[in-house]
Amino acid sequence: MSAGRPGCLCGLDPSVEYGGPRAAFATLGGSPTWGLGDRFHEFAATRGHERLGVHRPRTPYGLGPQVEHYRGPSGREFLRIPTYGQVDNEDPLLRASEWKAFWILWKAGVRVLLVGGTSGSCDWRRAAGDESGVRPGDLVLPKSYLTRDTMPTGLPGTELEFCLAHRVAIMDDPFCPPLADALRSRAAQLPDFRFRRVHGPEAGVVLNRWLAGNGFESLATCRMLESSGRQTGMPIITGDCVSPVLARVCGIHLAYYHVVANWGTGLEPEDPTISLNRLYLETLPAVAATLELAFLAAVSEPTTCRCRELLRVRPAEYARAMSPPAAE
Ligand SMILES: [Zn+2]
Repeated sequence: MSAGRPGCLCGLDPSVEYGGPRAAFATLGGSPTWGLGDRFHEFAATRGHERLGVHRPRTPYGLGPQVEHYRGPSGREFLRIPTYGQVDNEDPLLRASEWKAFWILWKAGVRVLLVGGTSGSCDWRRAAGDESGVRPGDLVLPKSYLTRDTMPTGLPGTELEFCLAHRVAIMDDPFCPPLADALRSRAAQLPDFRFRRVHGPEAGVVLNRWLAGNGFESLATCRMLESSGRQTGMPIITGDCVSPVLARVCGIHLAYYHVVANWGTGLEPEDPTISLNRLYLETLPAVAATLELAFLAAVSEPTTCRCRELLRVRPAEYARAMSPPAAE
């Protein structure tokens, strides 16, 4: 069950006005930069990015997550909401963290959103000689996604609450292809670090998207994803990402990169948390933060993608085929 559906514990106050900073570019961070803890801004400062302020905006769904406002060396400003908008010790579904984060991004005027994720590969090609397989140490720019939960697809209390009759999101290219190209070229320019292999959208990798929960996938889930990938010829990775539908509905180009940290739980004998903790704390934070900052400092809003066109306007009859809203 998704939180925030009718009957949930969160209140809804549509009268709340956005009081935070505005920018066209943003990142929700994610597990690749977890190892920096609350010191992302210190790392950013060493690369010439100044943190201009830290905000905690109210949203219609309750107090929002932290919003950091940055200005890079080129003068480009961007926002950063740590770790997908999640708050320590708060259940992200129960507290509607995804609604809060996207309401902030939408109100702030964000057009390009960068999200990073990590976690397991369920690629069936795991033999030593399968060099083209999606393996730990690789960078993936997925082609498509699956989802294990009912994703949020609108923003309750706004004109985007349920816009299906007005605009429908076609989910080809959920992850903006020109932004994937930009991520790939930035990754190739990283100083002192090379990913084992980069799998771009042409590799057809599917992200089994998930956002919140206290466990990893079960062995059965991983076996199912492995088998499904073999059948469709599209290898599957598992990891955190926000709702691609919600990004599209909000008019935001979504850039997603994934660092493969381990094999899906149970597909290999070792305990993935051991290698994960080492990776998260030692290797990955500086690499991922450098990649994110370089991307945010230089990327421009794409003009050659279909992200906006794929939010299709529908005939007026469709909305009239529904019951009208109750008169206040
Ligand atoms: Zn796009």
